[in-house]
Amino acid sequence: MKILVPVKRVVDYNVKVRVKADGSGVELANVKMSMNPFDEIAVEEALRLKEAGKATEIIVVSIGPKQSTETIRTGLAMGADRGILVQTDDIVEPLAVAKVLKGIVEEEEPGLVILGKQAIDDDCNQTGQMLAALLGWAQGTFASKVDLGDSTVDVTREIDGGLQTVKLNMPAIVTTDLRLNEPRYASLPNIMKAKKKPIAEKTLADFGVEATPRLKVLKTAEPASRQAGVKVASVDELVSKLKNEAGVL
Ligand code: AMP
Repeated sequence: MKILVPVKRVVDYNVKVRVKADGSGVELANVKMSMNPFDEIAVEEALRLKEAGKATEIIVVSIGPKQSTETIRTGLAMGADRGILVQTDDIVEPLAVAKVLKGIVEEEEPGLVILGKQAIDDDCNQTGQMLAALLGWAQGTFASKVDLGDSTVDVTREIDGGLQTVKLNMPAIVTTDLRLNEPRYASLPNIMKAKKKPIAEKTLADFGVEATPRLKVLKTAEPASRQAGVKVASVDELVSKLKNEAGVL
């Protein structure tokens, strides 16, 4: 069984994101980019299934600019077998990404597609669900445990106030939550090996998809900055301030 893992190139989660002066978006020039953290978890889960003898091949796919090759190489260095880059310099919204992924699924016929639950740049949390709808496949979103059977997969989902386990007929879509696993670091020998693994190059047109946006970003703004705190000399002073100034006691 093949597993397809879509991986997105996003601003590294350690970077303090800055809004462009004209409010049209966030600054991307000279900013460190990395694989979306939820996608690292997706690659890790696929690798564990392969190591357990339940999958035969892991394909990582990224839709984005040429530099997304680096993101694919990261997945290959972790242990995935081959990559597909669907190159575009346009901003591709989740529906267009899902349509491209549908095309790849039809060519590759994987038993599972494991995606991140959301990309940390757009926070859409849409692509996996849209892909499931386009394919008519079952979906297990926000997975914190994946248990693969012969023709079904049990997905434990993180829901409000607890966990829910659902059984999906395969082929199926799974999206990863934070607690599913802890992704491995790529070792130096594996980083070297990854350089020789194949990456096929495609375009949106190969899948008959156009990137024409359906949304227009009207404004992007920084969060309001916090006001400075006050140091108090004693508990009595704190209580008095809470009572008389903040009015919370
Ligand atoms: P989103 O719906 O944008 O929050 O993204 C959810 C997941 O879809 C991500 O964690 C990725 O697994 C996948 N995804 C979204 N955009 C892309 C992309 N451009 N290339 C590859 N995978 C993507």
